[in-house]
Amino acid sequence: MNKKGVLTVISGFSGSGKGTVVNKLLNDYKDEYSLSISATTRQPRVGEEDGKHYFFVTREQFEEKIKSFGLIEWAEYVGNYYGTPREYVENKLAEGKNVILEIEMQGGLQIKKQCPEAVLIFMVPPSASELRDRLIKRGTEDLITINKRLERASAEIEYISDYDYIVINNDINICADEIHSIIKAEHNKVKKNSELIETIKNDFRI
Ligand code: 5GP
Repeated sequence: MNKKGVLTVISGFSGSGKGTVVNKLLNDYKDEYSLSISATTRQPRVGEEDGKHYFFVTREQFEEKIKSFGLIEWAEYVGNYYGTPREYVENKLAEGKNVILEIEMQGGLQIKKQCPEAVLIFMVPPSASELRDRLIKRGTEDLITINKRLERASAEIEYISDYDYIVINNDINICADEIHSIIKAEHNKVKKNSELIETIKNDFRI
């Protein structure tokens, strides 16, 4: 019998480097992780592909998904909808994969309410000035949007205490190692593996 996968939420300020760290986990431990691809009403950035980075949908299509309970969670972030498709996540967890949701905090907290056994990890950059520099260097948003994202980061700080773990992204390799260790430990928790424990108990019963 397999251990069930761990539903892992990774949140962090826009520009905290969570995308890079998550990609490293997916590359280094291909068999252990699955990344959920979100639906969004945001316009694709240069180089982003539909079905790979996001499912890009209209507001009407998104609202339809909300109505039909097709999303586990959803939130509005700086003027756009973002949400996690339910079916993919449930299937992968049943297969024993650790499913990563790279989502913002409102969504993370919705997940915790629905699935208390989910693990919520918050990633922060080394400092606020470093975050601003990274966002400007990334060049994917104009200054107004960058400022909105920084304002949002400042409001989100209040909710960090609702998360389970905090990691500081000074170095991508170290940060990915830390997250992998957290998820591995969660994977092995007795409380998360009640079915497996029942099987072991039966096996050892005289
Ligand atoms: P971006 O526009 O930079 O790709 O994403 C903006 C924010 O939305 C990021 O913090 C990202 O993690 C978050 N996000 C992406 N997908 C989802 C989702 O499905 N649900 C929620 N709640 N947030 C998401």
